Amino acid sequence: MPQPDGSDTVRASGASRQRRPGQVSGLPREASAIDAGAWDSGRSKRPEPWYADGLRFACVRGCTRCCRGFPGDVFVNDEEIAAIAAFLGLPDPEFRDAFLRPAGSGRLSLRDRGDYECVMLEAGGCSIYPVRPRQCRTFPFWPEIIASADAWERQAKTCPGINYGMLYTRKQIEALAGIY
Ligand code: SF4
Ligand code: SF4
Repeated sequence: MPQPDGSDTVRASGASRQRRPGQVSGLPREASAIDAGAWDSGRSKRPEPWYADGLRFACVRGCTRCCRGFPGDVFVNDEEIAAIAAFLGLPDPEFRDAFLRPAGSGRLSLRDRGDYECVMLEAGGCSIYPVRPRQCRTFPFWPEIIASADAWERQAKTCPGINYGMLYTRKQIEALAGIY
């Protein structure tokens, strides 16, 4: 599946790599917390996007399809690493040694298990759900996925939560995608 950086090799919900996370019907929580004040009023000057009327998404409990089954990266930055290490009660260096690997371009990814399952995936879902990386929290509202209706529908074939559940407004979608 496409990656947040536009490349084609990461894992998470679908096609190639970038793992997209989900677990326990999660993204809606983030969406409701978006600060309306952060919205750029200049967006109104842009053409209406194809998703102007909103998009539906709700992670399906117990699915975990985007956390396993194919090679992919789950990128983490220093802030996310610190938060996950603290959540697990591990010193930062110990956490890095045990759970991270180089992912190219100087970035780090959570490790995979042998079958391409994210190392943080457990039987009940994501073991670090409250502090999962942004990549996981913002799926499927990634720029490359909302770039066109076709891209969105292609992703829907791999994620049963797409086109289902909560309606995200254009503002919420673009805030999650980081394109406002
Ligand atoms: S960190 Fe959690 S939500 Fe993200 S890919 Fe791994 S198991 Fe899935
Ligand atoms: S419903 Fe979609 S986002 Fe949720 S775990 Fe399944 S594939 Fe991932």
